[in-house]
Amino acid sequence: MRVIEAIEKAKGSPLFTFEILPPEKGMDIKSIYDTIDPLIEFDPSFIEVTYHREEVEFREHGDGSIERKVLRKRPGTVGISAAIKFKYGIEVIPHIICGGFNIEETENGLIDLHFLGINNLLAVRGDNLPGEKYFSASKGGHHYASDLIRQIMDLNNGIYLDEELKNTAPTNFCTGVAGYPEKHAESPNFQTDIKYLKEKIDAGAEYIVTQMFFDNSMYFDFVDRCREAGINVPIVPGLKPIATKSQLNTLPKTFSISIPEDLQLEIDKCKDNKQARQIGVEWAIMQSKELVAGGAPVMHYFTMGKSDNIRQIAKAVF
Ligand SMILES: Cc1cc2nc3c(=O)[nH]c(=O)nc-3n(C[C@H](O)[C@H](O)[C@H](O)COP(=O)(O)OP(=O)(O)OC[C@H]3O[C@@H](n4cnc5c(N)ncnc54)[C@H](O)[C@@H]3O)c2cc1C
Repeated sequence: MRVIEAIEKAKGSPLFTFEILPPEKGMDIKSIYDTIDPLIEFDPSFIEVTYHREEVEFREHGDGSIERKVLRKRPGTVGISAAIKFKYGIEVIPHIICGGFNIEETENGLIDLHFLGINNLLAVRGDNLPGEKYFSASKGGHHYASDLIRQIMDLNNGIYLDEELKNTAPTNFCTGVAGYPEKHAESPNFQTDIKYLKEKIDAGAEYIVTQMFFDNSMYFDFVDRCREAGINVPIVPGLKPIATKSQLNTLPKTFSISIPEDLQLEIDKCKDNKQARQIGVEWAIMQSKELVAGGAPVMHYFTMGKSDNIRQIAKAVF
């Protein structure tokens, strides 16, 4: 089922979804099933699978030489998405990214997903490579998520890159995009960020999933800003329970988000990560209940590969 149809069918009762990361190269898919299994009883409507572009590492050898290596550390998004769909019978939302692909490679990836019967996507630009100041598109690849959406919409209309193809099968992708309640890090201001978000919706995206936030007023303000700008698609809040004390510093740095003082003071009081993880769960339960009461259509949780905390939250909320 397409995301948008599932939301309509739920008639206001919030759906439960979560996001998993492909395991690091060399690991077994079992770690994915171990993350998913404890959450199955809460009847997830969708499971999202992130996409990870290549990374650059510099490796020093015994002779003192330094080698620049380009590594894809978490491959497998398409395979994992298919495995989940067929093992659990649950719809999946693979993420697709601009970075690291030219448009032919993107089209081929989309064709694979179409053949697998996967009709939902989350289309994002991807971040700059570590060490790079700015995002750089691959040669012949997309610069912005809106360009990626346009390519997906072309395929939905049966328009492939090779104009000479005849009797082409249109795809039926329902595509979501990322939104930023605290604005995207590179954007000079909220107005500009919302303007480009609207461009993604006008290009054909049908729903928005937000970056994590820890203060619900940011989500509600963001929804208001979007509605004022004429963005009328469902806006799914993304929640991440804090899991370690160090995340007080790493999450703001990595995702350009803020952590409210009340939560920070509670985490600061914790003696160890076990206590911090529990505070994270309680905070996310409080956030979830308020968001559900405020009309959020879907609750989306970032697992970061571990689901014991998401299980506690789901138990309290669904
Ligand atoms: C829910 C969610 C899931 C994510 N999943 C992944 C994932 O699986 N893999 C991954 O690598 N990353 C993922 N990301 C991170 C995402 O790739 C980064 O946040 C990235 O920096 C921006 O992606 P975007 O799709 O929002 O980019 P865009 O919408 O392209 O926007 C990027 C920046 O450019 C600006 N902009 C947009 N269009 C234009 C234009 N035409 N002219 C000038 N400026 C413009 C925007 O305001 C913004 O500042 C995810 C983020 C979220 C919130």
